[in-house]
Amino acid sequence: MILGNGVVRTMDPSLPTAAALAIAGDTVAGGVGTHERALPSPERVDLRGRCVVPGFTDAHVHFPTWALARRQVRLEGTRSLEEAVARVGAAASSALSGGWLRGCGWRSADWLPAVEPTRHALDPVTGDVPAALWARDDHSLWLNSAALALARGDLGTGVVELDDAGEPTGLLREEAAWRFRERYLAVGENETADAMREGIRVAHARGVTAVHDKDGWLGAQRIWQRLRASGLLTLRVWQSLPHERLGELEALGLRSGIGDDWLRIGYLKLFMDGTLGSRTAWLLDGSGVAITTGEELAEVVRRAARAGWPVAVHAIGDRANREALDAFEATRDEWHPRGLRQRIEHAQLVHPDDLPRFAALGVACSVQFSHAPSDRDMADRFWAGRTAHAYAFRSLLGSGAVVANGSDAPVEELDPLGGIRAGVLRSLDGRDAWHPEQSLGVEEALHATTVTPAWLAGEERRRGRLVPGQLADLVVLDRDPLAVPPEELAAVTVVATMVGGRWVHNPPPWD
Ligand SMILES: [Zn+2]
Repeated sequence: MILGNGVVRTMDPSLPTAAALAIAGDTVAGGVGTHERALPSPERVDLRGRCVVPGFTDAHVHFPTWALARRQVRLEGTRSLEEAVARVGAAASSALSGGWLRGCGWRSADWLPAVEPTRHALDPVTGDVPAALWARDDHSLWLNSAALALARGDLGTGVVELDDAGEPTGLLREEAAWRFRERYLAVGENETADAMREGIRVAHARGVTAVHDKDGWLGAQRIWQRLRASGLLTLRVWQSLPHERLGELEALGLRSGIGDDWLRIGYLKLFMDGTLGSRTAWLLDGSGVAITTGEELAEVVRRAARAGWPVAVHAIGDRANREALDAFEATRDEWHPRGLRQRIEHAQLVHPDDLPRFAALGVACSVQFSHAPSDRDMADRFWAGRTAHAYAFRSLLGSGAVVANGSDAPVEELDPLGGIRAGVLRSLDGRDAWHPEQSLGVEEALHATTVTPAWLAGEERRRGRLVPGQLADLVVLDRDPLAVPPEELAAVTVVATMVGGRWVHNPPPWD
């Protein structure tokens, strides 16, 4: 097949653009002019001036959670507790009798007045139906009394918010929230698989051809494998597992990368701290929640390296990032010679002294461009005086660090073009750019969404660029994002998506 008469952005410095692209089977055969005559009766697709870029990778997504969240009560954009309760109430009356009322997306910092939600606010609209509503950052869980009653007072470790009488308010944070989910909120595998099938279609429509999934702790790998066996897996998946499973991996002798071009088990995930929105980010000023200390992380990294596994560690606050970097530094002799590609997820607030350490140590930052404009008001409030080195993508890239971009969906929408826009414009709502000195160029943002994630997965020779021998994973855009003025970026749209030489969204011909 030959895609011709357009602009092909290969993302390879040796030949950045071509007018056409030849594809043979599932791989890129070459730029046109060299190989097309070698192909027997090639099918020709007229791009009519459209632009082809490598398929997008979302380097941080909770895919099953996002796919299921698409079916829940969505509380994004609510401006007050009352508005959130009203949305829940509308869903409660139209939905289920038995079972759970599920929702997500609330953020109390966005509410006026800024109050924390309680079970008492929910009970009148939900009655006896247990309700579980996740905060947008997935680190706080808002329950009603019926849901809370299921735990019979056993809420375990983590943060359990209490009222003046010492009773749980219905708000659980961090490990308390996650434990509650494991015990009471598990969704059946059939329903999850079904939601993921729909999710894959939506992802393709947004140009996504690969994901770095973070829901290994939910058993995502089992469901991906099931989709793969049914021929329904058309996304390439680099899967995390919770670091608590390391002992089992050691026992089985499994190493990072096991799998095939579609699904690989890649890395171990753990958490240093909480989040900005839940005010649990671990900061140098002493505030926040430490989930893992630097010494504990060093232990995990060392043991994981010996077993052949890299680590992705969630670190939001400046203390969390420093401790994580300390741990990678202390263990570098173990992981660096083994070529393991370590990563810090989010790296939202990094002290200037620590900024150059990512590049110096060779630890990648797996960030989310869309978090910057989305979090700006909270960051200005909670991290006042420190936002000059928050979401410091330009400084990180400038220091030589490897920067990959993801959405953290369902925290932000799974939408790579939106992410690229956020990285370039640092504003998504018409306001002036937030810390514009940290803006990226379109090409840099695109690089972080295509080339870098493939490298993180150890697949830089297989995908991420449109050069001969790489998998034909690509997106057709209606115009060239590198050639439009910034204000026109919002108009760039996905026309079609191809994975492994097959159209998975909107096959040609196009008007
Ligand atoms: Zn996440």
